[in-house]
Amino acid sequence: MSRVYNFSAGPAVLPEEVLKEAADEMLDYRGCGMSVMEMSHRSKVFEEIIQEAEQDLRELMGIPREYKVLFLQGGASQQFAMIPMNLMKNRVADYIVTGQWAKKAYQEAQIYGKANKIASSEDKTYSYIPDCSDLPVSPDADYVYICKNNTIYGTHFKKLPNTKGKLLVADISSCFLSEPEDVTKYGILYGGVQKNIGPAGMVITIIREDLISDEVLPYTPTMLKYKTHADAGSMYNTPNCYCIYICGKVFKWLKKQGGLEAVKANNEKKAAVLYDYLDESRLFSGTVVKEDRSLMNVPFVTGSKEMDAKFVSEAAKAGFVNLKGHRTVGGMRASIYNAMPMEGVEKLVSFMKEFEKENL
Ligand SMILES: *Cc1c(COP(=O)(O)O)cnc(C)c1O
Repeated sequence: MSRVYNFSAGPAVLPEEVLKEAADEMLDYRGCGMSVMEMSHRSKVFEEIIQEAEQDLRELMGIPREYKVLFLQGGASQQFAMIPMNLMKNRVADYIVTGQWAKKAYQEAQIYGKANKIASSEDKTYSYIPDCSDLPVSPDADYVYICKNNTIYGTHFKKLPNTKGKLLVADISSCFLSEPEDVTKYGILYGGVQKNIGPAGMVITIIREDLISDEVLPYTPTMLKYKTHADAGSMYNTPNCYCIYICGKVFKWLKKQGGLEAVKANNEKKAAVLYDYLDESRLFSGTVVKEDRSLMNVPFVTGSKEMDAKFVSEAAKAGFVNLKGHRTVGGMRASIYNAMPMEGVEKLVSFMKEFEKENL
C-alpha cells in the first residue's frame, strides 16, 4: 500500500488514523456483527453514533443550546435553495459575491425573491475580499449571505461583514472546523462535509432555533423545510449513516488535537510554509492578496500555461496529486485541509524548489 499526498479541494484527504479505524470496524462494528453501512438508522447502535457525533461537534465549536445541528443530504448546493425557501419572509436577501459558490447561491436565491448583490470581487477574478464594513444592506433584507472561505479562489473572510443588525448566513464548507467560530454571530452556518470533515454526500447545517418554523415559502417540499429535519433529529428519512459515522470519528480526532484553537495554530504553520515559499519563489506566485489568503486553499501560478501543466504532471508522478487549479481559473491549487500533515506541505515545497531550479 502506498498513499499519495492528496491536495484535492474535495472530496479530500481524511486523517489516516480515522480511515484505519473505519477499516478495522468494517465487518463488525464493535461486536454487533455488521458494518455501520448495514445497520438500521433506527437501531440503538446507530442512535449512539449520531448522538455522539452531534455532541462532539457541539463541544468542538461551542455550539450554544439554542442552535440545532442538522445532518442533511443534497450537499452544500441544496442549501442554496433551502436557505431562501425557509428564511425569505420579506423575499429580500443580500449577497456578498466573492466566488463561484457565493454566485451560485446568489443566483439560486433569485428564483425565490429579490436577491441583491451588495458587494463583489468579481472585477479582479475574486482574488480579494471586499471591504464589508459599511455595505448598503437592504432595510428589509431577511439575511446577509457570505461564503466564508472561497474554495476555488483561495480567499477567506478574516473579519465578518457588518450586517447592520441583519441575520448572517454563511457557507463554511471549505473552512469547516479549520478554526474556531463564534456561532452566535450567525443565524445559519453550513458546510458540505467532503472538504474538511468526511466523505461526500452530506451537509451539516447549524441553525438558530427561532429561525426554524412552518412559515416557509409556498410549495417548499417537506424535505426542504428545516423544521422537518429539526423535529426528527435529522432522521425524518434515512440519513447518510456512514458519512455521519466517519464525521464522528473526525470530530474525535480533532478533539484529540486539542480543539479548534490548536487546529488553527497548526493550519497557520502549515500554510505559512507554502505561502512563504510562494512569496520568495521566482517561478511560482500566489494569486490572492496577502491579507485575504485562505489557510485551506492555496492557488498559485507560474505565469505560463505550459509550465503549469508540466508542473502538475511532474508533481503527480512524484506523489503530489490533484494540484490542478479549478477548471474556471487554471494554474494550480493546493488544498491543505486539517488532515494534510505538515510533512505533506514541506515535501511539496521541497519538490517545488527542485522544479524551480530545473525550469527557470
Ligand atoms: C464544494 C463547495 C460547495 C458545493 O458542495 P456540494 O456538497 O458539492 O454541493 C459549496 N460551497 C463551497 C464553499 C464549496 O467549497
